Amino acid sequence: MPSPGAGTPLADRYGRRFPYLRLSVIPACNFRCTYCLPNGYHAAPGAASPLGLAEISRLLRGFARLGMHKLRITGGEPSVRHDLTEVLRTAAAVPGVRKLAMTTNGTLLSRRLGEWMDAGLNAINISVDSLDRANFARITGQDRLDDILAGIDMALAADLPAVKLNAVLLRDVNDGELPAWLDYLRDRPVGLRFIELMQTGDNLAFFRDRHVRAETLESRLRDMGWEALPRAEDAGPAREYRHADYAGRIGIVAPYSKDFCAGCNRLRVTATGDLRLCLFGEFGIPLRPFLQDDGQLDDLVRAIGGQIGQKERTHHLHEGRTGITPHLASTGG
Ligand code: SAM
Ligand code: SF4
Repeated sequence: MPSPGAGTPLADRYGRRFPYLRLSVIPACNFRCTYCLPNGYHAAPGAASPLGLAEISRLLRGFARLGMHKLRITGGEPSVRHDLTEVLRTAAAVPGVRKLAMTTNGTLLSRRLGEWMDAGLNAINISVDSLDRANFARITGQDRLDDILAGIDMALAADLPAVKLNAVLLRDVNDGELPAWLDYLRDRPVGLRFIELMQTGDNLAFFRDRHVRAETLESRLRDMGWEALPRAEDAGPAREYRHADYAGRIGIVAPYSKDFCAGCNRLRVTATGDLRLCLFGEFGIPLRPFLQDDGQLDDLVRAIGGQIGQKERTHHLHEGRTGITPHLASTGG
């Protein structure tokens, strides 16, 4: 394993570097997305509480020492956490964190955006699986589309440096909505990402019914004149497209495509402080014991650095192996 020095992004044995951390700050969620938490969130009896602010601060200082400069706050639903603004402020105060992003279902976006931006948020991904109000409510269990779309327009008007939308493709549910999305993107400078549905421990039957390859949509886009953008060095696994007639861009996240994992640039930490080397990995290393005191930073850095050599070349989703992830709310998708 290469021994990382301060500011040098961690690298694994396949030469991939990890300047990007996704931190789940709470496993709970107020939505019931059919592919994720169809029965809503239920805490396991005796489940540990999410990391507190001091623990988060120590964790992020450790990762920053290992070259992390992009952080995404995720969940569960981060905005279910009452001290989310404080979490953002804590993260923004960590030296070295240049990009502070969050993935949210957008329920509190229109009310809290200003507060989150003041705390240091400079990029946001909002999940919008359908532009049709009834369809959105069927997928998520919440009739909140109009308010969420208003929040997205506020984020665009507020000049948040990066506003992206995530839509999980679901066969015969929302895979016919490309025309509506194209209308939406014509004048809005947002990056929409179509994400291929992934199998998790809990959703096998749903996955078999609803999985649709993102490549089908991608070739339709190419036929319509959308051009692939050259890959940015820190782009991660999404493939990006643009079209001269549209202000927005479209990204495709196709986890079942060849070489998807070759572009992996991220590590994950769960809400209770377990390091996950892969969304679909077989184990999680508890970092919480290294987050109890400011004097433990060196031990924390050694513990994280010591795990990177265990990162596998690729996930095993093609063989139906989903690792220890029951649903993405548990790991921070
Ligand atoms: N609650 C927030 C949200 O939905 O944006 C953040 C957490 S959610 C787990 C992060 C992203 O993972 C969302 O865009 C969601 O649609 C996506 N996701 C969840 N389960 C998925 C699955 N099985 N396959 C593909 N994407 C999934
Ligand atoms: Fe909640 Fe996000 Fe999962 Fe939907 S995808 S149930 S909003 S965690």
